[in-house]
Amino acid sequence: MKVDVFVIGAGAAGLTAARKAAEKGLKVLVAEKGSGATIQSSGVIDVAGYLSSNGMFVSAIEGVRTIASKYKNHPYSTIGGGRKTEPDKRAQESEKIVRKALEDFVGSMKSVGAKFVGSLDENVLVTNFVGTFKPTCLCPSTIYSGILKNLEDSSVVFVGLKGFPDYNPKFCAQSFSDTVSRLKIKPKSVNHTYLDVPGLEGRGDILAIEIARIIDDPEMLEKMGQNLQKSAKSAEQIAIPTAGLESPEENIKTLAEVTGANVFELISFPPSVPGYRFVKRLEKAAQKAGAIVRRGYKVVGANCNNIVKSLRVEMGRKVTEIEADAYILASGSFLGGGLKEDCDFLKESVFNLPVFGGDGSNLEEVYLEKLLSREVFPKGGHRLFSSGISVNEKLQPISYEGEPVYSNLYAAGSILSGYNYMAEKSGMGVALATGYLAGLNASS
Ligand SMILES: Cc1cc2nc3c(=O)[nH]c(=O)nc-3n(C[C@H](O)[C@H](O)[C@H](O)COP(=O)(O)OP(=O)(O)OC[C@H]3O[C@@H](n4cnc5c(N)ncnc54)[C@H](O)[C@@H]3O)c2cc1C
Repeated sequence: MKVDVFVIGAGAAGLTAARKAAEKGLKVLVAEKGSGATIQSSGVIDVAGYLSSNGMFVSAIEGVRTIASKYKNHPYSTIGGGRKTEPDKRAQESEKIVRKALEDFVGSMKSVGAKFVGSLDENVLVTNFVGTFKPTCLCPSTIYSGILKNLEDSSVVFVGLKGFPDYNPKFCAQSFSDTVSRLKIKPKSVNHTYLDVPGLEGRGDILAIEIARIIDDPEMLEKMGQNLQKSAKSAEQIAIPTAGLESPEENIKTLAEVTGANVFELISFPPSVPGYRFVKRLEKAAQKAGAIVRRGYKVVGANCNNIVKSLRVEMGRKVTEIEADAYILASGSFLGGGLKEDCDFLKESVFNLPVFGGDGSNLEEVYLEKLLSREVFPKGGHRLFSSGISVNEKLQPISYEGEPVYSNLYAAGSILSGYNYMAEKSGMGVALATGYLAGLNASS
């Protein structure tokens, strides 16, 4: 089999890269061995939330500019021209690319019926299942309507579902009250309540995905709306744990009409319905552009000289060779499987590419244990989480000497070194911006 562009990984980075290459009219194949970080994510787009030396950024773009000018190994610096470019110029270029990539992303989501709301010019706080917040900048509209500033001066009720053990609305409401009072925000009232899930009454082990499917059924949604109206009474803001899988925007609208309140979805921990929905929508957008997405295709080896000539792909018991003109490595970090531990060292899984620390150091002979701190939450995060492969400004993986390893190989997303998305809240921002650029570069 022969394609123009072969993408390894169907997370946010791989599916964005595949869509961009397919939009250029190329034959694109995406191979996906299993799930990764994207499906586990909260489904909101963090571009730049924090920096340990800086605290929270007022806007994502302020964060991108600061990071790109100060940290030359960060992917935002790389897309802005890399270490040879002056810091101010790097910041400007990076801002331009991040803006283009995120605008392009919002348009692609719209084309598959998903509405993302927010702005790179303002970080907002969204509430999670345990009643605390995190900064982000673009959210599905079902989540965005519940941003913290919309909850000030309102009566808020957190709605739990009987038999759904992953979410405790009482705890969430208490923690929310404590946190907002520290921030000197005073909602009129904060309460919680429980509802039955229509059709699943009496169960004690309900999964979020089951609730989401129930909510997608118009008959069940109507019953849920009636239950909600009775329990949430005159609340102005109603927080629910999930808005559904297929039609969350319409479901929220229906619930808002029945209750007369603003109804919104909380961000959750894995297994995350918004994360699952997000992957489905990214995949739909890539397929709509013409990309072929194959799940259960694991890349197990590569045939290379100074270029990548073909990849060996395992599909069940069969192994086949697939050739392409260009390849994009978007295999993720530890969760995706792009990086792995091998005999106490950090390795890249498919090509055995050189691995680097976040500071650009060579990790070839550094024991993995040295990349972990003794503290659980060290300031700035564990070194391991900013480790990965390094790329040049074209997003080609480089050797320890700084040369591209294979001229037709590009990389994007969380396999890249130089940033720690957990500490910075930059996960999807980096995945979408580098995926966008890798897709364009691989097509040219
Ligand atoms: C619990 C959690 C919550 C998060 N919440 C947020 C959030 O709210 N907002 C935000 O911005 N970021 C969030 N992040 C970070 C964000 O999810 C990641 O930064 C982003 O999803 C990385 O995307 P990716 O495409 O690089 O990798 P992944 O999504 O991990 O995708 C890599 C894919 O490559 C595939 N793969 C790997 N090796 C092979 C192979 N050999 N052959 C074929 N396929 C292969 C894997 O199966 C995987 O699906 C969160 C992360 C986690 C873990």
